[in-house]
Amino acid sequence: MKFMSTRGGTAVGLDDALLQGIAADGGLFVAASLPVYSPDHFAAADGIHAIAELFLQPFFAASKLRDALPEIVAETFAFPIPLTEIPGCGRSLQMLELYHGPTAAFKDVGAGFLAACLGRLHSIAEQPLTILVATSGDTGGAVAAAFNERPGTRVVVLFPDGRVSARQARQLCCWGENVLSLSVRGSFDDCQAMVKAAMADGTLSARHRFSSANSINIGRLLPQSIYYADASLRHFSRTGKKPSFVVPAGNLGNAFACILAREMGLPIGEIVLASNANRIIADFLNGAEWLPRASIRTLASAMDVGNPSNMERLRKLLGDASSLRQQLQVFSVDDDQIEDEIRRNFTEHALIVCPHTATATCAYRQLDAVQRSDQDWIVVATAHPAKFEQIVEPLIGQVVPIPDALQQILSRPMHAVTVQPDLASLAGALDDAFVP
Ligand SMILES: *Cc1c(COP(=O)(O)O)cnc(C)c1O
Repeated sequence: MKFMSTRGGTAVGLDDALLQGIAADGGLFVAASLPVYSPDHFAAADGIHAIAELFLQPFFAASKLRDALPEIVAETFAFPIPLTEIPGCGRSLQMLELYHGPTAAFKDVGAGFLAACLGRLHSIAEQPLTILVATSGDTGGAVAAAFNERPGTRVVVLFPDGRVSARQARQLCCWGENVLSLSVRGSFDDCQAMVKAAMADGTLSARHRFSSANSINIGRLLPQSIYYADASLRHFSRTGKKPSFVVPAGNLGNAFACILAREMGLPIGEIVLASNANRIIADFLNGAEWLPRASIRTLASAMDVGNPSNMERLRKLLGDASSLRQQLQVFSVDDDQIEDEIRRNFTEHALIVCPHTATATCAYRQLDAVQRSDQDWIVVATAHPAKFEQIVEPLIGQVVPIPDALQQILSRPMHAVTVQPDLASLAGALDDAFVP
């Protein structure tokens, strides 16, 4: 299978798409053609690992990683992804819990898969790959956890000093020798600018063999379709009904993965997006121009995106604006609604949700009654509420229990280096850490 750029360009194989991350013409990689499956294709598959292998086989047919696919799948899906009933709602409303990985958010799936692939594509005998990742909080932890102590790789995490929560800081700074955590005296935009400048600096880039693990890498996206395949097949085989999904959306990676699974024939009904007060997707799907803008800060901070990059992929997959508008519905949920929703889920269903998941349960509530009763719905839970305890605990009036994986991270020692927001400081920190 070949991958081409959303902007044209020449097609490359999976391995190059994974290593390059972004296409040479600045576009995003998409599969040149998609396999289409019927649910029967997965009839003999017992569990998410077997489904993942069947789903991914055509993508890996010409890859150096083909024979390692079972191992890659097993490493990625090493934690449960349960589909649970919401108390009092039966099978008509369920929750897909994507937060049982090492850093308690769905990004663990994509980061784990990418690390499993890149770690194998790059031979350990070569100079280590150095993965640069700028983060406003969540992504950096997932990427560091995925590459932690993986031979032949290093990770440099850049985050804005003093602007991440205490628990996020732990997740960014608690890793082994091959992870360098940099607390940048600046904003998230400064962190991103430093990564871009470093990648564009030929000398520095050759010296450290830079690569990136940001969310536009196809290796972060592809594995996310697997949990939609697994959940929809499970529901379909139990009930004969195609479940519909409500997906919290920021950069549109998770939602894209759901749409991709549906395009590939998985039994998925409607797809509803939930965004926070960053209204770009909502405005566009409701008829306005696509108008990138600065992001605004909300309680669902991992969805604070003013220019979701995966829209470029979505247009390539689904076509023009009118067909997108026919196939997707979106609700924008503001901070007051997020707070109400966290309280309401707790009092009405004894359910504790994170602020991102709350946008999805709120969107579900806004569907019209017929839509709700005609279909079975699955709300996607993207993070564990214990990651956002400062928001959630005052609203529900009690402490959120911390899952074991997160507890382990929180009890490790932290180490970070503070740097100025410029390329020279980044280069200096890299030499200090990694050049003997
Ligand atoms: C990243 C993130 C999102 C948004 O996902 P996208 O793929 O960027 O749309 C939602 N919730 C949580 C908890 C996240 O970390």
